[in-house]
Amino acid sequence: MVDTLIPPCDATRCAAAGCTPTVCVGAGVASNAEMFDRSKRAIPGGVNSSIRAFKAVGGEPYVVARANGATITDVEGTTYFDLVQSYGAVILGHAHPAITQAVTAAVGDGTSYGAPTPREMKLAEAISERVPSCERVRLMNSGTEATSTAVRLARGVTGRDRIVTFAGNFHGATDALLVAGGSGVATLGLPGTAGVPNGAVAETMVVPYNIVPELDDQVAAVIVEPVAANMGVVAPVPGFLSGLRAECDRVGALLIFDEVITGFRLGSGGAQAKYDVRPDITCFGKVIGGGLPIGSIGGRADIMERLSPLGPVFHAGTLSGNPLATAAGLAALGQLTDDVYMELMARARHLAAGMRDACVSEGFVASFPVVGTLMGMVCGSAAGSVQNFDDAKRTDEAAYAAFFQAMLAEGVAMAPGAYEAIFVGVGHTDDVLDAIVAKTAVAARTAVAALTG
Ligand SMILES: *Cc1c(COP(=O)(O)O)cnc(C)c1O
Repeated sequence: MVDTLIPPCDATRCAAAGCTPTVCVGAGVASNAEMFDRSKRAIPGGVNSSIRAFKAVGGEPYVVARANGATITDVEGTTYFDLVQSYGAVILGHAHPAITQAVTAAVGDGTSYGAPTPREMKLAEAISERVPSCERVRLMNSGTEATSTAVRLARGVTGRDRIVTFAGNFHGATDALLVAGGSGVATLGLPGTAGVPNGAVAETMVVPYNIVPELDDQVAAVIVEPVAANMGVVAPVPGFLSGLRAECDRVGALLIFDEVITGFRLGSGGAQAKYDVRPDITCFGKVIGGGLPIGSIGGRADIMERLSPLGPVFHAGTLSGNPLATAAGLAALGQLTDDVYMELMARARHLAAGMRDACVSEGFVASFPVVGTLMGMVCGSAAGSVQNFDDAKRTDEAAYAAFFQAMLAEGVAMAPGAYEAIFVGVGHTDDVLDAIVAKTAVAARTAVAALTG
């Protein structure tokens, strides 16, 4: 289809680029730069999520026309191996047939009703079956909504205000959790961004990751990424998560696991199964929507039933339990057998070892931590030793930026930020991983030259 809104579309070039009567791929019809310039006139910074703007690594983003499996193709027709995978949301790879079929089958029945549906019931059941701490599940539209609802619920249930959070953990764009933090000491929150009033974070306490804080009876909840995946990938040290459980129990506080990344990524039971610690409330997002917008919280029945309409803690959402998102989520969970997780673990180890060897051989200093199926990259003197945010902050961001640009030039798309995870999924076959490793060697050499030259 000729998209007359995107000049210079022209029927011949569109046909040559592979457009069909129903799908304008955009490929070959405009440059990334033209497209992004136009986006910037319509959308602040040209993006709908700030990291996408490449501010941390320099340059301007590729504008995506389509994606399939392990690859992503921009509007110029350039195809990259994709290690972003929608920040982990598309664990099956892009346009997986199971997702495409499920969404296609669902869409003809309408896209949102404002009434209960069978599929939202099934997805809630599927989560409960796989994650025993989630005796009840409420669906919503993003991980951000999940964490903000979890905080409200914990405060409502306990009648306390204070929330304890860990420096370097990320919980989305939730006001109460957007606190500045990161020094080695516990601090009462100061806003981490303009627009968050002091009052919104005055009861948020920031403490260092991987140390069990001493709590008191003012604390409503501790919220934690059970594997930190937004400051690189940082495993909990032995005793950290179980220590949080015990300390919360001691003072009557609730333990909230933010499993928006780790949920259905580390395995069917998430981090709580891997480390055998049972939180009171769990936040999900990303994987459970199969790449469509979703979030959810699950938890103990007596806590969850304090949500409206049963209890006094308000929650609502026009599109919550969305028919398409639940169709995609069910299809995704249906594919994710234990065998698949075993395979993804092997692939993460394989890619990490290959990229590490390639970097070592070229003299590029980096480590590639692996926790189950999750993988990260740490550049510079922080490599190999990150346990908390102070460690992570020693990451050489300039080195990552040079490596990122060199990888992109070689045809590998990584996340445009030095603290993001590397997402290996069902789409990354061994051939793809080997190709990425080969490109890593070239990119590491280029990055070393750029950094020393
Ligand atoms: C991505 C993420 C969120 C926010 O989810 P959105 O769907 O982007 O709002 C929250 N917590 C963690 C740990 C995340 O990685």
